[in-house]
Amino acid sequence: MIPNNIKIIPIIIPVKSPLKSVNFYLIKTDHSLLLIDAGMNIDDCWQGLNTTLAKHDFTLQDITHIIITHHHVDHVGLINRIVENYQIPVYSHRFSVPRLRRDPEYLQKRIEFFADLYDKMGCGEAGEKQINYLKNAAKKNTDQSITYELHHIEELSLNEFQIVETPGHAIDQIALYDETGKTLLSGDLLIEHISSNALVEPDEFGNRMKTLVDHEASLKKIQALNIERVYPGHGQVIETPHDLIERRILGIENKANKFLALLEEKSLTASELAQQFYKDTYKKQFSLVMSEIIGHLDYLEHKGKVKKDFENGVWNYFV
Ligand SMILES: [Zn+2]
Repeated sequence: MIPNNIKIIPIIIPVKSPLKSVNFYLIKTDHSLLLIDAGMNIDDCWQGLNTTLAKHDFTLQDITHIIITHHHVDHVGLINRIVENYQIPVYSHRFSVPRLRRDPEYLQKRIEFFADLYDKMGCGEAGEKQINYLKNAAKKNTDQSITYELHHIEELSLNEFQIVETPGHAIDQIALYDETGKTLLSGDLLIEHISSNALVEPDEFGNRMKTLVDHEASLKKIQALNIERVYPGHGQVIETPHDLIERRILGIENKANKFLALLEEKSLTASELAQQFYKDTYKKQFSLVMSEIIGHLDYLEHKGKVKKDFENGVWNYFV
């Protein structure tokens, strides 16, 4: 096969968090200049984008397409700043649209989903606190909504890349695969220094997605690809992706087995399991911890290793 004539230019902005950096990418092909993801809405990212463009003799205006790997704020932050200046078309998975618009009806349904979920998982007060936080955030963050026209990624045909759907970390996550160059732009599916979280989310009908099951399937999907280099959303470029993918898949099973061992001792609600395993972190990082626990319980249930009973309005998990 003839290699594609493409050049990938990483924009790596260090951040003071476990993510280490926020990465986004310019890709020069024969006929286009793609921007893959759009960083955070901070001046460091804005300057990083502009200086990188200048260094390669480009301007903002030269960008032909913006492609979003998923809707999280650290991947879409500069979209509004860019399109205020130039009307560059933005492409994402169709599931990104209500999330990026911060559509009030969608946000309301999402809050109701989590209220019901935390209630049935036995979270009590900690759950109510999180729901209040979500309600305030929905009001406060309206200025972060992207009202600019968004195109569905399937409308875009790129000669150089295949779009691979990789849900799990986010329902709308996609990766870009260059088969001839053996490279993948992975969004947050694969990160070298931390394992990516599969965040619990409702699907378009309000049902809970088995996000960890999806995440594992997405890892297996890219495991089957012929890739030698992965450009991730955070941290360093991954040079031996297959070893890492293998480690991440094993990591899911190992962690699930730790939860399973606790459930073998006695039946627990998701909230009880979370408190037993995560101790103080349960309150400090409530939504992440519950996502982790519920994700693994759904995963174990999916594999036929645990069952659940609904008693007095709360789910009890047992082996
Ligand atoms: Zn991210």
